[in-house]
Amino acid sequence: MTGITIALSKGRIFEETLPLLAAAGIVPSDDPETSRKLIIGTNRPDVRLVIVRASDTPTYVQYGAADLGIAGKDVLLEHGGDGLYQPLDLKIARCRMAVAVPNGFDYEQAVQRGARLRVATKYIQTAREHFAAKGVHVDLIKLYGSMELAPLVGLADAIVDLVSSGNTLKANNLQAVEDIMPISSRLIVNQAALKMKRELLQPVIDAFAGAVR
Ligand code: ATP
Ligand code: MG
Repeated sequence: MTGITIALSKGRIFEETLPLLAAAGIVPSDDPETSRKLIIGTNRPDVRLVIVRASDTPTYVQYGAADLGIAGKDVLLEHGGDGLYQPLDLKIARCRMAVAVPNGFDYEQAVQRGARLRVATKYIQTAREHFAAKGVHVDLIKLYGSMELAPLVGLADAIVDLVSSGNTLKANNLQAVEDIMPISSRLIVNQAALKMKRELLQPVIDAFAGAVR
């Protein structure tokens, strides 16, 4: 492909990327919320968008099926970042990764007495590193969504999840007890594509960089 393929997930990443695309003179021809198309054209004949699952974005870019992509730091940490150049923090889709427990569970005390904790999460790598650095012993349970349910039905003592307003936690009688890291989305670039098609990709990267500030 001689043009540019950009991998995006629908929802907040797509929405928050529209102004960045506009800054690069790129306007999508369809809205992925209403269209069922997985390949979406743009006003530029040489630029197309592919709509992927958020956690699949790094994989498409790693293998060169997309030249560029936008992925959350949460997703990039789990993927590992192999074959990806990450030139820009786009400061979109901002939230934080946190440990949460049921209201009334004394997390600090459990940590201090060296209890072994069962932690449910979609973010196994990040959780493993966090608790290892703290010297807390954990049994990690991999989930793919709705982590908030796990402590409510006795699957886990705690969860590691993304938090923004905290309303979902509150609605399920949970509370954040420890921040792990702030999260935002990054521009990711296939390293080989950047070498082969720099004259095509660099202006888009520069336009995104200009729009972030
Ligand atoms: P899927 O819905 O396919 O399972 P997902 O839930 O990770 O995947 P999104 O909800 O679109 O997909 O989230 C995409 C990215 O947006 C996440 O990887 C994360 O970086 C960020 N994000 C997730 N939740 C929030 C939030 N509540 N506020 C702000 N940013 C968020
Ligand atoms: Mg989601």
